Amino acid sequence: MKRYLRPLAVTLVNSLLVFVSCFQGLNAQISDSASVALVGARLFDGTGRDPHEESVVVIRNGRIEMVGALGDVDIPDDVERIDLSGKTILPGFINAHGHLNEDQSDRPIRTKLTEQLRLYADYGVTSVVVLGVFSFEELVVADTINDEQDQLGLDHARVYVAGDSLQNLATADEARMRVNEYANAGANIIKIHITGGPNDMTPEVYGALIDQAHSRGLGVAAHLYYLDDAHGLLDAGVDVIAHSVRDQAVDNALIQKMLQQNVPYIPTLTRDLARFVYETRPDFLEDPFFLRRVSAYQGDVNYVTGDEYQALSRSPQRQVDKEGLAQGTENLKTLSDAGVVIAMGSDSGTNNGQWQGYFEHTELEMMVDAGMSNMEALVSATGGAAKAMGLDQDVGVLQPGRWADLLVLNANPFEDIRATREIHSVWIAGTPLNGVP
Ligand SMILES: [Zn+2]
Repeated sequence: MKRYLRPLAVTLVNSLLVFVSCFQGLNAQISDSASVALVGARLFDGTGRDPHEESVVVIRNGRIEMVGALGDVDIPDDVERIDLSGKTILPGFINAHGHLNEDQSDRPIRTKLTEQLRLYADYGVTSVVVLGVFSFEELVVADTINDEQDQLGLDHARVYVAGDSLQNLATADEARMRVNEYANAGANIIKIHITGGPNDMTPEVYGALIDQAHSRGLGVAAHLYYLDDAHGLLDAGVDVIAHSVRDQAVDNALIQKMLQQNVPYIPTLTRDLARFVYETRPDFLEDPFFLRRVSAYQGDVNYVTGDEYQALSRSPQRQVDKEGLAQGTENLKTLSDAGVVIAMGSDSGTNNGQWQGYFEHTELEMMVDAGMSNMEALVSATGGAAKAMGLDQDVGVLQPGRWADLLVLNANPFEDIRATREIHSVWIAGTPLNGVP
């Protein structure tokens, strides 16, 4: 199994946790408050299997102990039962391509990052892969948060992090050096930028970079736009395509390479939408689901709805992204139908008007509009994203041993993908964020 998000460290941390848990158990110190059975809900386990229409999930010490159809699971006597009849349980969403950013205030960077991870979690996004930081300090702090997140009581999304996106490196030596720098700082993955511009790394340089990352146990995710670059990157062994191919239709050779090399594809449709959608005031700014956390968004809302930003959105260099989005949407359908692993990623948190938490739901809706089934879109945000990022032993699927990171909905997203916005509760490590509902 491909598992390149720092496998050794993750295993080590898990072993330590088991050890610590046993030790605390001897002292009867560990809280057992997270031992519950969620009973009666429709349950989608994130793998693509048909949902159970009525289910049981038993959660103990933050992880899933048992899961299955109601009637098939022998509910232990010592757990508290919570009736969730009529609800739908899904794995918490994974944003396979997100970002955190730093405001200009002098608050500690850890505060800024955890606030945004909480914002994601409030929208049901319980894991975020940050494909590119804005400063080396952000990498170091995000890595610390990552090291500390395997615990009960976690009250924000889990984070996995790349250093800043490597681009325009001139030599193979420089590329290897930068990979080592980020690997030493605790990066979970390496991100690179190939824009199609004249200063891009050559295939020789990014080939050396990818080899070095692999030798350090890390995968490489690539920003790209052009089909030719996708071919070059795949030939060099890239691990993740982190944006849509937007210049032309993907060809069969690309599909075969992606399938044979098991390389997932993250379309980031909302990233392209955000380039031009603020030419006028979009309706979604009035969506009650958007407005529930508008306090976090307000400054940016004011900015993207201002005259200056509307003019920028109408500029020719941004209007051309309408065609890019249309091509990317078509390519998503082609690649999904061909069986390429699709991972939901929004690129939220980078540029203005890319809403952390909210846009992951827009992304799912756009995937369905592109022709993916509701099931395919939901897999891309759960088990698909987990598999793409090598996280599926921990999150993304509701199977015994995984963290109980769950999204409980009041409506059925298999009937209408917009039902993902009808959030009843969000659970991380077996605990609902806002108390037992
Ligand atoms: Zn990005």
